[in-house]
Amino acid sequence: MCANPECGAAFYDGSPNASRRWHDVRTCGNVANLRASRARRAAPA
Ligand SMILES: [Zn+2]
Repeated sequence: MCANPECGAAFYDGSPNASRRWHDVRTCGNVANLRASRARRAAPA
């Protein structure tokens, strides 16, 4: 399943160590990365 709860798309993880988290890195992965970088910026140094 895609790691994005708002997506929930099921996909086949064909990577050797099952490290894929997103059904599509460009969409769901990008959203998560954006959120992470934003949270990092908002967090106190
Ligand atoms: Zn997804």
